[in-house]
Amino acid sequence: MADIFQKINELADKYRDYTAKNLSKLVQIQSESMGEKLVQLELKRQMEEAGFDEVRIDGLGNVIGRIGNGKKILAFDGHMDTVGEGNPANWNKHWLSGEIDNEFVYGRGTVDQEGGPAAFVTSGRILKELGFDKDMTLLFVGTVMEEDCDGLCWKYIVEEEKIRPDFVVSTEPTNLNIYRGHRGRMEIRVTFQGISCHGSAPERGDNAIYKASRGALEIEKLNNNLGNDEFLGKGSVTISEFKSGSPSLCAVSDYAHLHLDRRLTWGETKELAVKQVEEVVAQFGGKVEVLHYEEVAYTGLKYGMEKYFPTWKIEENHEFVQAGVRAFSGLFDKAPKVDKWTFSTNGVTINGVYGIPCIGFGPGNEVLAHAPNEKVAIKDLVVASAFYAGLAYEI
Ligand SMILES: [Zn+2]
Repeated sequence: MADIFQKINELADKYRDYTAKNLSKLVQIQSESMGEKLVQLELKRQMEEAGFDEVRIDGLGNVIGRIGNGKKILAFDGHMDTVGEGNPANWNKHWLSGEIDNEFVYGRGTVDQEGGPAAFVTSGRILKELGFDKDMTLLFVGTVMEEDCDGLCWKYIVEEEKIRPDFVVSTEPTNLNIYRGHRGRMEIRVTFQGISCHGSAPERGDNAIYKASRGALEIEKLNNNLGNDEFLGKGSVTISEFKSGSPSLCAVSDYAHLHLDRRLTWGETKELAVKQVEEVVAQFGGKVEVLHYEEVAYTGLKYGMEKYFPTWKIEENHEFVQAGVRAFSGLFDKAPKVDKWTFSTNGVTINGVYGIPCIGFGPGNEVLAHAPNEKVAIKDLVVASAFYAGLAYEI
């Protein structure tokens, strides 16, 4: 294996500029959620150029590149949609510049997370060049709509495409550490009804804003009483939106709702989270619902899911984590750090819903995700392209 690892490292180094240029091309194509068509065509072109056995685009718009045809399936996931620009004044370079210098590739998506797919295209090229012939199918998947609804793309792949990998690597940024989980999340709406009347005589009505405000203060307290997990950290809840209405600005409000961002730690389920909120808002007449996501993909397909994104983790001694650790140590002659993400990824369905063993390994630092002046170190791209190829041999 030492021999293979050495060859992989040599090729990853040799293709350093190729990887950086591929990433630059992806970054220059604006690709917010539901607008990924052009970036997907470019990713498909890159996989074809790299010599993949087959590359196709599924009904939701995911690009699926394949190498090999064996029974065991190892998949690499990287979402191709990015968030928007934000305030242009905060950027030192144009957000879609894709500029390359000696050290970095710059622009939206370099970290979150087109760097992972750019690296795995190179891994595919390396594996083809080395004549990879294990009895395995490797799938390299550039997914869509993750920023809008994490995990939806994998719901589509598992349930509609009937593809169920044995292992999945998420290439979301991990700073080249191996990650094995993160907290789940859900979006909850609490609605309060009031009775309007003329604002000159408020005692005749029932003001929804007062009820929602009391409910909001209870939710603030609830945040201090949520579960904790040694590895994943504490569950949390916050109110991200407060909306109300009334027939006129001279009337008592007859409607208000709170939008809750709930982060779920280990052991916290949808049922538990809903019950906890119900318990504190019932006294003010609050009605609790878990929201539903439904949008039209760039392919024209309407698809959705409940906005419940389960917590997931796999144990450090799991065979897949350990295969990752061995591939890393074998390639780079040091032990990796095994940790977790702060944010949420497609792992919520891959492992959280379907129980498919999942680890994370990706170039770039999570703290630059969704931030201005996003950039990724080219040496990180090289390491990632070597790791994905090495893992395919190690697993
Ligand atoms: Zn991401």
